[in-house]
Amino acid sequence: MSERETVFITGASRGIGAETARLFAERGYAVGINYCRSRDRAEALAEELRGLGAQVGLYPGDVSDRAQVDGMMQAFLRDFGRIDVLVCNAGLARQELFTDITAQSWREMLGVNLDGVFHCCQGALPDMLHRKQGRIITLSSMWGQVGASCEVAYSAAKAGVIGLTKALAKELGPSGITVNCVAPGVIETEMNGQLSQETRDALAEETPLERMGTPRDVAEAIWFLASPAGRFFTGQVLAPNGGFII
Ligand code: NDP
Repeated sequence: MSERETVFITGASRGIGAETARLFAERGYAVGINYCRSRDRAEALAEELRGLGAQVGLYPGDVSDRAQVDGMMQAFLRDFGRIDVLVCNAGLARQELFTDITAQSWREMLGVNLDGVFHCCQGALPDMLHRKQGRIITLSSMWGQVGASCEVAYSAAKAGVIGLTKALAKELGPSGITVNCVAPGVIETEMNGQLSQETRDALAEETPLERMGTPRDVAEAIWFLASPAGRFFTGQVLAPNGGFII
């Protein structure tokens, strides 16, 4: 059993997930890093965090695949003994006209962005329920709140994440487990890597705080919900978006 508190973060090989892993490691947590394709990036991050003195484990797996999620959760519990915080961060965005979305693309978007949250929450819950404590933080998006043109599948999945979060918070409150959602605005990660400079400038201009967000902006919101200060929050949507939607 880990002496330290533990966090398991999905999609932590890069972007917001990697920065969240850094923040929790800096603040004394033992960190489980899940990744899917970016093995080299995940291994480099693990090395970096071990250099800070953190306990780190690597857990490859596709969150849309139930058996893989069960395997990685079991491996994490074998390594660290308990799961205090689950961050369901893994996500996939794709821009396509609604009329062009194939059944396969729809399934993939819902599979990673929504089924992945379902799988990971069910995987972590037996341990949390047994200990009657735990914090679950899901990642939605402002597009899950207001919808984005040419991102119907993504918006639907992220709206589903908000619904899942609110319903699960009600169900798990009496068991001492909080479930909250972070819904970021436009954040500087590879997910937005294809945006032109012109679009980036326009997005910054449309944002009351006049910039795109950083992965650290989002990691701090996740940290708050996991920290003692967040103890009376459950079923909430916290939106680090610079005021883009209010
Ligand atoms: P990135 O594209 O930078 O990183 C995505 C991460 O998710 C990677 O670590 C990737 O792992 C992982 N991932 C993708 N598919 C799977 C899968 N099937 N199983 C496990 N892991 C997977 O995204 P961001 O860091 O920008 O986004 C993180 C979260 O925040 C997502 O849920 C996203 O929807 C949400 N978000 C992001 C916003 C933004 O503007 N960036 C805005 C609003 C919400 P690997 O590379 O190893 O495959």
